[in-house]
Amino acid sequence: MKALIYNKNSNKKIELVEIEKPKIIKDTDVILKVTLSSICTSDIHIKKGFVPRANDKVVLGHEFVGVVDEVGNNVKNLKIGDRVAVNCETFCNKCYFCKCGFVNNCINGGWELGCRINGAQAEYVRIPYADNTLYKLPNNVSDRNALFVGDILSSGYFAALMLDIKKEDTIGIIGSGPVGMCAMISAKILGVKKIVAIDINEKRLKIAKNKGLADYFINPDKVDIEDEIKKITPYGLDGVIEAAGGKNTFNMAIQIARPNSTIGVVAMYEEDQIFPLPNCYGKNLTYKTGGVDAIHCEELIQLISENKINTDFLITKSYKLENILEAYEYFENSKEDVLKVEITY
Ligand SMILES: [Zn+2]
Ligand SMILES: [Zn+2]
Repeated sequence: MKALIYNKNSNKKIELVEIEKPKIIKDTDVILKVTLSSICTSDIHIKKGFVPRANDKVVLGHEFVGVVDEVGNNVKNLKIGDRVAVNCETFCNKCYFCKCGFVNNCINGGWELGCRINGAQAEYVRIPYADNTLYKLPNNVSDRNALFVGDILSSGYFAALMLDIKKEDTIGIIGSGPVGMCAMISAKILGVKKIVAIDINEKRLKIAKNKGLADYFINPDKVDIEDEIKKITPYGLDGVIEAAGGKNTFNMAIQIARPNSTIGVVAMYEEDQIFPLPNCYGKNLTYKTGGVDAIHCEELIQLISENKINTDFLITKSYKLENILEAYEYFENSKEDVLKVEITY
């Protein structure tokens, strides 16, 4: 079968190759026939060598939907032919971290797919602990509707939850990219009063505006961000989500958050960041950070099925698996236009 692998020693770092179809290894595994997948910024991070835990020659891809093709003997909730959304994190549901809901740190799993074990930019993929991490899709939720459930939509929801949003809150979201937009959608669901979308990319701000994802739109390259925020809310923002991971966005979050507010960081940085503790002494910020604990997939599918969430607009372009190298090229190099690409099979 065709598969896109990370190859550390190759020129382009990724290659489309032929490999064997995966087999059931443990009786809790499922083999999934992938029907739609996507490329995530994390795939690009792996490609650039910023994810040291990624295995050489691993099949990339952790954002996808599929149909159950084979089931292990101990899989209880799934059968061949089930159409499912997939959690990007495979987890045992038995260890200390899983019991606390911290599935990202599951001692037997976490973010493994497309990083430590073969992922979904291939015709078939093996899913460990399938009962925990595959979710049957209702008929009115299409593959495309469900594509982002297990990764960026979960990340956006996780980010919004970090802020403990209250009804009167005005929050800022730095980064109007796919995760930032999912955070905007989620913050609305969680009942925020106003959202300020912040990005230096005008096209992305415009999409957020057209889709009604936020209430204010600020390009910090064009105006003084602190002045603009003061016009909206005099003491600063009641919460800030940092979903950009840019050169100065970590500091920007600290700058525009009001005293005693929360900053939630879901951005993945390519370099260490400096926390300006002397400057923010007395500001009494709460700082939260994390890779998503994707434990709300079922809720999100329900919200999609009730038409309360729709992320289809994030898909800018569609490529076939055999043209996935082109899809990477486009996703990586035309940032101005692209939000997400979908890979069809
Ligand atoms: Zn991802
Ligand atoms: Zn676990």
